[in-house]
Amino acid sequence: MSAEENWSPRSQAARALGWIDQSTKAVTPPIHPASTFLRDPDNQYRSGYSYARDTNPTYDQAEALLCELERGAGALLFASGMAAAGAVFLNLRPGDHVLAPRVMYWGLRKWLSQFAVPWGLQVDFVHMGDLAAIRAALRPGQTRLIWLETPSNPLWGISDIAAIAELAHGAGALVAVDSTAATPVLSQPLTLGADIVMHSATKYLNGHSDLVGGALVTARKDDHWQGVADIRHDGGAILGAFEAWLLLRGMRTLYPRVETACRNALAVAQHFHGHAAVKQVLYPGLPSSPDHALAARQMRGGFGGMLSLRLKGGEAHAVAAAAKVRLWCRATSLGGVESLIDHRASTEGPGTEVPADLLRLSCGIEAAEDLIADLESALQGAIC
Ligand code: PLP
Repeated sequence: MSAEENWSPRSQAARALGWIDQSTKAVTPPIHPASTFLRDPDNQYRSGYSYARDTNPTYDQAEALLCELERGAGALLFASGMAAAGAVFLNLRPGDHVLAPRVMYWGLRKWLSQFAVPWGLQVDFVHMGDLAAIRAALRPGQTRLIWLETPSNPLWGISDIAAIAELAHGAGALVAVDSTAATPVLSQPLTLGADIVMHSATKYLNGHSDLVGGALVTARKDDHWQGVADIRHDGGAILGAFEAWLLLRGMRTLYPRVETACRNALAVAQHFHGHAAVKQVLYPGLPSSPDHALAARQMRGGFGGMLSLRLKGGEAHAVAAAAKVRLWCRATSLGGVESLIDHRASTEGPGTEVPADLLRLSCGIEAAEDLIADLESALQGAIC
């Protein structure tokens, strides 16, 4: 193995795998907006490109870098995180059984209930922190997929990827992990036995709240993966070239951004743990969290930039405090350089299972003391 192959993922991210444009020697890749490519006179496509719904040269570096960071065998970009997740489920057959988490990104949970179930999938929502419950819910030969999200939105519980992969594989099922909140900086699910990793690239991978995108990475290029690729190609949920280029640029700073977000989240969690106005801080980095030991074993270098606060003053205090922040940005989404605060129940709307007293916090890269001071004054200022 050459020294270059040994470079750490942090170095590979910073240099975007060291790609140089051979015609100009440019150190950043050009954007290729072309929708179609010239066919050779003898009817071949020797460049490897024919039409941009098949693949696009601007995808290549972003897919290769993400594949390297996740230690995968192949990666595919999609038009959104939802399009990426949907491709994994749509690659199953009506009648197949899947297990999904009870606490997960609400948009995907809603899609599973409102689209995938009527389409024919049998979906059981299981507490993914409970291995006995997972074992009991598995139907060997019929369960095709266990979908995990860890840390899971918006309560930030941790699932044991290695243990669940062992259960799944024993029953003939695949494991896919929504690793949006963990990022490849903090955990690499494929190295723990997962078959597929999914990211909403809208979040940390890009990191600047200026694109919507998604990605899948596979442990193996097998028939299942080919099916997923066909779904992207035939369904057409591809990313635009400009977004793919922005994503590659964003991934070059993934490590320092995620590390700063983790430090900020830990500082905010520690400050508000035991605070007079706060009922509970939900963050796996706190030793008091029931998932702390598992998180410490499974994640490296931090516990993520996401946490939630439950306020003693209930919904009224949570909504009023979110209205008073000045540094935090009152907006949904997560994983950008700017810190966001979200009254999650309002975002999810009627039928949500999120406690009404919960504020979801996405820590950015500002100074931790400023984030804490701004939240403190918002909480104080909002007490009626
Ligand atoms: N997974 C998680 C954990 C998310 O937070 C989101 C979006 O908020 C998604 C998936 C969906 O991603 P997108 O909005 O890019 O479709």
